[in-house]
Amino acid sequence: MFDLIIIGGGPIGLACAIEARKKNLRYLILEKGALVNSLYHYPLYMTFFSTAERLEIGDAPFTCLAPKPGRPEAIEYYRKVTGSFKLNINLYEAVADVQPHEGGFRVTSSRAVYQAAKVIVATGFYDIPMLMDIPGEDLPQVRHYYKEPHEYAFQKVLVVGASNSSVDAALETWRKGADVTLVARGPGIGPRVKYWVKPDIENRIEEGSIKAHFNTSLTAIRPGAVDLLTPDGPLTLENDFVLALTGYRPNFEWLQQCGIALSDDGLCKPVYNPATMETNIPGLYLAGVVCGGLETHKWFIENSRIHGNLIIDHITRTP
Ligand SMILES: Cc1cc2nc3c(=O)[nH]c(=O)nc-3n(C[C@H](O)[C@H](O)[C@H](O)COP(=O)(O)OP(=O)(O)OC[C@H]3O[C@@H](n4cnc5c(N)ncnc54)[C@H](O)[C@@H]3O)c2cc1C
Repeated sequence: MFDLIIIGGGPIGLACAIEARKKNLRYLILEKGALVNSLYHYPLYMTFFSTAERLEIGDAPFTCLAPKPGRPEAIEYYRKVTGSFKLNINLYEAVADVQPHEGGFRVTSSRAVYQAAKVIVATGFYDIPMLMDIPGEDLPQVRHYYKEPHEYAFQKVLVVGASNSSVDAALETWRKGADVTLVARGPGIGPRVKYWVKPDIENRIEEGSIKAHFNTSLTAIRPGAVDLLTPDGPLTLENDFVLALTGYRPNFEWLQQCGIALSDDGLCKPVYNPATMETNIPGLYLAGVVCGGLETHKWFIENSRIHGNLIIDHITRTP
């Protein structure tokens, strides 16, 4: 029996736990993978767009020599924070279901059934890629996650998308000798691409080092080739690998199964009170980037680390 169960051991789940600990709540974090599992799966050489102090949680200082930390430093930081606050967390334990039960909630995980007075869902959005739904998307040369460039050296790589993940992958693989083509439905490189990276990709495209097709869709992937629909008509390119970095989405089916209502405006935004983060189900809260539904650019660590304070404040004020 817990006062609070937090589902998800990402930065925001940890931030919620620190606040719960400060208020002496009996809490438990359930995380289905490694600690900060999403960050663990980020590209090895990625750099955060946030400066270190904006990624801090629980007022624990995040020191970093460079202006912006990379993945290993962030993982190191959140691991140290978890250790120094002695956070109560079970790793590799996925939550299958959350249902109201006896005035609280019954939380069913891969290992046990728990009873908790309140539940916070901080499950993020990085587990489910946005699929293109085109023929050949399930072929082995197609990747929806990018880890590091070496395996693409001297290969013909098609990068799908023009946002941060796609641009980073295009530049990194090109710098390691890949023959890179970038394809995007929009008219150019995305406006939210990191300001110090945008000129780099635009200059590489302008000089012809990286080929780019904008206002273009990838229509099919076949062994050894890809089919595009460009403004000038269909085009087939030789291909070894497709990096389909077309974004990720929260697990909407799981949220709905737990009873959380979603907006019907096509963005599937979970319903919650922004002052308390409580969902349509009293006692069931949302925290972190899961709150944005398909608007995955709306919430980040920077602006959602406050969610834990709002929730724990509401829980401790509610009889
Ligand atoms: C490449 C990339 C770069 C980013 N850079 C920045 C940046 O510079 N600055 C910034 O502020 N934000 C950045 N973000 C956005 C955002 O901050 C991150 O997505 C961050 O990880 C969100 O934290 P979170 O705790 O809400 O979710 P997550 O970190 O995704 O944590 C959710 C956790 O829940 C777990 N989980 C999911 N389902 C279950 C379940 N059923 N049972 C148990 N556990 C479950 C997952 O394994 C995961 O560990 C970036 C995102 C990406 C993808």
